[in-house]
Amino acid sequence: MERRFMDSLDWIDSQRERMIRLLEEWAAINSYSYNLEGLAALRAAMARELRRLPGALAEIELPPSRAIGPDGASSALPLGKAFSLRKDTGAARRALLGGHMDTVYPPGQERPRLERVDEKTLRGPGVADMKGGLVVMLVALEAFERSPFAAHMDWEVLLNPDEEIGSPGSTPLLAECARRNRLGLIFEPALPDGGLVAARKGSGSFTAVARGRAAHAGRNPQEGRNAIHALAEFIVELTGLEQPNGGTTINVGRIEGGGAVNVVPDLAIGRFNVRAETVDEQRRVEEGVEALRRRIDAREGFSLDIHGGFQAPPKRLDERTRVLLEHATECGRDLGLSLPWGSSGGVSDGNRLAAAGLPTLDSLGVVGVALHSPDEYMLVDSLTERARLAALLLMKLGAGEIDPP
Ligand SMILES: [Zn+2]
Repeated sequence: MERRFMDSLDWIDSQRERMIRLLEEWAAINSYSYNLEGLAALRAAMARELRRLPGALAEIELPPSRAIGPDGASSALPLGKAFSLRKDTGAARRALLGGHMDTVYPPGQERPRLERVDEKTLRGPGVADMKGGLVVMLVALEAFERSPFAAHMDWEVLLNPDEEIGSPGSTPLLAECARRNRLGLIFEPALPDGGLVAARKGSGSFTAVARGRAAHAGRNPQEGRNAIHALAEFIVELTGLEQPNGGTTINVGRIEGGGAVNVVPDLAIGRFNVRAETVDEQRRVEEGVEALRRRIDAREGFSLDIHGGFQAPPKRLDERTRVLLEHATECGRDLGLSLPWGSSGGVSDGNRLAAAGLPTLDSLGVVGVALHSPDEYMLVDSLTERARLAALLLMKLGAGEIDPP
């Protein structure tokens, strides 16, 4: 390791206890995507730390997300605010650091309870995905700012409150950030073996609303148009669009509709998620869904509407991402960390930044296991390990040793 990087890296090691304390403090605040109070409390706690860094801290209002209710009607759901911190000195080099403040756990749930399992392990809601990553990002930036390379690079932090629901309010903000930066660093959890995510599938969430006509099941069934039958047919044909070997899967996660069995139901709702590895596959499924919709919608007495779409396009391992991954792997080697590359079916804001043209590394956070489950935990040692990795990347960028692809 070159000596000029050592002071900042050593300083990170001195921050170990503070990092654990911050992670426990932030994980104890419930910040479920729709828990606006909790998200505000987390922002307040994070602001106390972020204010140590240079740059202006700003809260950004997001437009509400839209959801289809069990009555088939669309309604607005308010979102929390995003956080932005920008260091702007006019430097030519400029990086975006990002993460999400929200978690998938609604308030009031017992599990996962925040618990220091042993010396090496911390369990709790969002400790890996991704409050651990937020602590890593903070300390890596602090270390970078303590280094002589800080004068040569500007950066911007963007924290959103809605990633776990597909970033419906913050996607335009992410695209805007992608345009004014040279590369993106996202602090989503690493793979369980500490590896970096090289490619991610795309993900689309859809709601199909089938409408027919109500009638008495005994007196005049011929006048009814059974919306559940229409939806069932749609779902069976929909699953025919799957191509698991090509990485395309479809999951119908919820169906709603109907009432008494002697009434022909006039409304049925099906909610489904599609994962695809390539944009071509994404298009094929989108077109297939539309063709199915048209066919059922054209029938007398029926309508079928599809809401939603691909919130995150696939993130392929392209040439620019490969260059970035190679730089990160080399930084890991300098630090004695092995960083194998893997792929993930889970999406992140890295998908959205890459789609907006920004080369992005999106698994710089802590090593964690059992994300989105009652057992979510993270490895405590990875806090300082990953902060050293991110700080070294930043310092090499500032030193001009790494050029953003
Ligand atoms: Zn996440």
